Amino acid sequence: MSIVVDPVGAAARTEPPTGPSAADETADARWLRRAVELATANVAEGGGPFGAVVVAGGVEVATGQNRVTRDLDPTAHAEVQAIRAACRAAGTFALEGMTLYTSCEPCPLCLAACLWARLDRVVFSADRHDASRGGFDDSAFYELFARDRDAWDRTRVHELRLPESTRPFDAWLTHTARTDY
Ligand SMILES: [Zn+2]
Repeated sequence: MSIVVDPVGAAARTEPPTGPSAADETADARWLRRAVELATANVAEGGGPFGAVVVAGGVEVATGQNRVTRDLDPTAHAEVQAIRAACRAAGTFALEGMTLYTSCEPCPLCLAACLWARLDRVVFSADRHDASRGGFDDSAFYELFARDRDAWDRTRVHELRLPESTRPFDAWLTHTARTDY
């Protein structure tokens, strides 16, 4: 299943003003507005300016707000928080059929989390350039991924191939009672 990532503004430019897609867009804008409100409120509560909502069948499953500094957790981005809460609420590790609305374009961490969560759709409002203006590294990380790792100017990543490198996967593949994901 492919994941659809689209700013609601782009949809507004390409979709006709009437018909089924117009109704979908209205719902998208409503949920997106909720994510933006969560993000804005989070600033006054000591968190980063990011909020997210997971929705299934027009019903709110879970929300998330950035908790990086408050929880001393650099991975506690709004989208990750929302995905974790949605999985707990739904009792699953896969969010097929659900949409994540986020106040800002997901960073590489969160976009990967959305893919791992098997979300159907991701809809965002502000983009990586807006985040950059706020002092966040989203855009810088996307640019980093586009470059060869040897040229990275931070967090060096090295491969050190051990003879037993594939042993965990061998164990996984021979474990017949495994839960695939
Ligand atoms: Zn993120």
